[in-house]
Amino acid sequence: MDICLAFKKINKNNYRNFISRKNKSMAERFKSVDFSDRIIFVPHCMRNTKMCKAKDEGSYYSCVQCRGCKIADIFTLSKELGYKKFYIMKGGKAIHNILKTEKPKAVIGIACFFEGAQAIKMTDKEKILVQFIPLLKDGCCDTDIDLEEAKKIINLR
Ligand code: SF4
Repeated sequence: MDICLAFKKINKNNYRNFISRKNKSMAERFKSVDFSDRIIFVPHCMRNTKMCKAKDEGSYYSCVQCRGCKIADIFTLSKELGYKKFYIMKGGKAIHNILKTEKPKAVIGIACFFEGAQAIKMTDKEKILVQFIPLLKDGCCDTDIDLEEAKKIINLR
């Protein structure tokens, strides 16, 4: 088994409980934040690696909406609602710099439970409200989410 998958499997229940509590505790305050003050982070592992033409921006990718994966739907919805920014992250480390630069009041993070728990700890420090959307199928490539569930969270108001 891939070492990152093995690590995540061992800790998954702890992370799941932590994240579930965090989402619930912030949901009402999150709803009060304007879409223009919210950022969405999605992981690059959700891209359809066989056809993705996303633009490489260094620490993240910009989706060109080839419709090869669910990121296109999330990106489209975020634009329609007026979200501040949308990033396809190559890794979690660059998120801290983006938070410092963009100063969002709230963020939505899509990630495996392990990455999600790390990101929530980081946003706690910065006092930024978070809603987390877990990957249904995790791993290091071609991962997946429940799109309808994600849309509900992105639409929270
Ligand atoms: S929809 Fe965007 S992220 Fe998904 S495969 Fe196409 S360019 Fe890549």
